[in-house]
Amino acid sequence: MHFWEIPPQRPPSEAYSLLFRATRNCPWGRCEFCGNYRGPKFAIRSLQEVKQDIEAAKAAADSMLEWAERIGSADRIGLVARTNGMPWLVDGVVKHVFIGDADSPIMKTKDLVEILDFLHETFPKLERVTTYARAKTLLRKSPEDLKILRQAGLTRLHVGLESGDDDVLEYVHKGTTADEMIRSGLKVVEAGFELSEYVMPGLGGRERWRQHVRGTAMVLNRIHPHFIRLRTLNLGMVPGVPLSEKNRRGEFSTETLEGLVTEVRALIEALDVTSELIVSDFALNYYLLDIDGRLPEERERMLRTLDGALPMARQKDEDTAAARKRWDAEEG
Ligand code: SF4
Repeated sequence: MHFWEIPPQRPPSEAYSLLFRATRNCPWGRCEFCGNYRGPKFAIRSLQEVKQDIEAAKAAADSMLEWAERIGSADRIGLVARTNGMPWLVDGVVKHVFIGDADSPIMKTKDLVEILDFLHETFPKLERVTTYARAKTLLRKSPEDLKILRQAGLTRLHVGLESGDDDVLEYVHKGTTADEMIRSGLKVVEAGFELSEYVMPGLGGRERWRQHVRGTAMVLNRIHPHFIRLRTLNLGMVPGVPLSEKNRRGEFSTETLEGLVTEVRALIEALDVTSELIVSDFALNYYLLDIDGRLPEERERMLRTLDGALPMARQKDEDTAAARKRWDAEEG
């Protein structure tokens, strides 16, 4: 058996990527909506450890290829690998790699380059290598360092914008301002990276949703990222995080489903980004799952889909409120 450390989180779009960890956890760890990596301390792994992990994955890939040949299924290696828990061995080769955890570019540039070189040597058919990155860290990197990383084969950065409104960003302790989000985004696009910006519908709560939408559209309209991904705030999934506590104390009101659909509709109307792909691929996006598309070409279709989702969302909100009332009556 071959073992290596894998990150506890990955973007939905990396479901078929080979996963490695160059760091552990998040160097910031203070965003009030985030339940990921809470507790454990941030650490940069040694190059030797990471390289051993890459070698272990290569050995696992070779064993799977041998096995598929032995059972006469070499021509269906992708299927054999997938059914044996290795979805990243697409067509028998590794094409996509995701490097965790929350902020790999915080490593020294030369160390990350050494990992990238080793990855490309080990898996020569590699087409895409991606990682999460904090906007603040990207701002600290020099333009030359970013270009070096891009040339070494890091192709795409996944950045958590969450909101483009300074009040919202401050309220949730994101540790980055809208202006820093814009400058870091422009910088990485300029360095040649593909950029995925993650937006969090619901993060302004019912109190700040309008400014959340306005600010977010303003930042995205400045950056023109390649991908805009929606990842709805879901406090139910992460009990104990500070925003959840604020919600319990009545200081923060989570959006209704109708409110979420209305918010995303307003965002799509306000976006002025050309030929960018909006992706709603997060499993907990409720009624926002069918709105992937390009702007401006597909704006009307996306808005129609959201209009169609509104009555269902409203009904679901009413059902939830009624169920809660019944529950309270029975408890009380
Ligand atoms: S930077 Fe990302 S991983 Fe770190 S606390 Fe914030 S949302 Fe969570």
